[in-house]
Amino acid sequence: MIYLLFNEERYENDIRALLMAFYHGEKILARNITNLEEKIYDYTPSDKILRVIYKGESVSLCLYDNQGKLLGEGCCEQLPKERKAGKDVLKICLYDVLSKVTGKELPWGTLTGIRPTKIPLSFYEEGFSRNEAAENLRKVYKTSEEKIQLCTQVAQNEKRILDSVDYKKSLSLYIGIPFCPTICLYCSFSAYPLNVWKKEVDNYLNALFKEIRKVSEMVKDYKLTSVYMGGGTPTSLEADQMNRLLCVLEQSFDLSTIEEFTIEAGRPDSVTMDKLRVIKAHGIERISINPQTLNQKTLDIIGRRHTVEDVENAFHMARQAGFNNINMDIILGLPGETAEDVTKTLEGIHRLNPESMTVHSLAVKRASRLNQNLELYPPAHHEEVNRMIHMAWKEAEVMGMEPYYLYRQKNIAGNLENVGYAKPGKECLYNILIMEEKQSIIALGAGGSSKIVIPEENRIERVENVKSVKDYIERIDEMIGRKMEKFPNFGIF
Ligand code: SF4
Repeated sequence: MIYLLFNEERYENDIRALLMAFYHGEKILARNITNLEEKIYDYTPSDKILRVIYKGESVSLCLYDNQGKLLGEGCCEQLPKERKAGKDVLKICLYDVLSKVTGKELPWGTLTGIRPTKIPLSFYEEGFSRNEAAENLRKVYKTSEEKIQLCTQVAQNEKRILDSVDYKKSLSLYIGIPFCPTICLYCSFSAYPLNVWKKEVDNYLNALFKEIRKVSEMVKDYKLTSVYMGGGTPTSLEADQMNRLLCVLEQSFDLSTIEEFTIEAGRPDSVTMDKLRVIKAHGIERISINPQTLNQKTLDIIGRRHTVEDVENAFHMARQAGFNNINMDIILGLPGETAEDVTKTLEGIHRLNPESMTVHSLAVKRASRLNQNLELYPPAHHEEVNRMIHMAWKEAEVMGMEPYYLYRQKNIAGNLENVGYAKPGKECLYNILIMEEKQSIIALGAGGSSKIVIPEENRIERVENVKSVKDYIERIDEMIGRKMEKFPNFGIF
């Protein structure tokens, strides 16, 4: 346990995030107390106590062990008044203390946010060069040279792709299909096992059709830029259900303007030739077949209930059906996996030769079965995961791909990142739009979270749908009502 004791709540979340990055998996108990010298807890030998004391514009940071022995300290005499600058200075001071005490350097330095590429992207938008953006990451955030190279390259590719998008009067669309063949060990999405929920799928689709039709009326003056169907696993739908869904979308929206339509066919055990033919017949080019790993023992541990051959067969079937833009997702740091296992996965992906590959670092989410069984599946060491990330980056380069989008999650293995790589021209525009938050995205279906971007006020307004399938079906009018209520306030419809 880390006890975070302070006399002001200023920057509490930022301090907490950096502590979590250094002491991954430790619980943090934060408390604002007036007498910071007072011993208020019974500390155990592994506990640490961080005291943060503000006096006017100065701040001092002291880290103690459970006996009150000082392990490290730092001080900033003049914390800048402006919030962001103050936060950056405080985090550097804390980083130096924690780095000295633990002997660790973090690959991302003091950056703990989800979207680090926003920083170099904003530099490029203001006309600065890649070198200048790199220098900023180096000086202000202590980011490692490897992550600087990655982050500035991703931002360059994002800028090139986003430059062609006209955000005025345009939107993107997300459609959620929350069913999967089985539930993976690490899953924290709104996903429902098909064998239990099969009877509800048509009812779910009827509710979804209602939401699609109503929302299409609301946003009829807007041009659609991209559509993304995720979940869950959309190819859990039968071929005729998928066909009906795509017909309703075509009847409701003008899809002639879209630059990209992606359907996740994540689980190979849900992919059949007749489903692929339906998708292709509707003119959809981009699908994602996600092995996560090509090691059978790991597939069994994570509860995917399909084989490595199923992945390969699904991929070949998709090629046969004419798909020339296929993505594959993999996860690094899966239970029990070593760098050698990852080499095997990467070799398998190389042989299949998809157009893009998305590389995730395992994130242990609170709601997942993995989180409840951590003693059985201890997380991989962050240096090992970083090594795997490096291997995946090199393999992507060999396959002719470049990194084009990047994000980080809470509780991600080794405080690292997820990266999308693609061959030139095969980048997923939707992935960039959702990460960089430049365009409003309307999300339909259970668990959908619509984001309305309000650039003039530099903020995002969210409209949430309920997560449960049952509630979504029963309360569909309320979901539509929420959008009708919120959209007009932000200039939509
Ligand atoms: S395929 Fe994805 S959404 Fe479905 S259970 Fe696995 S992790 Fe969850």
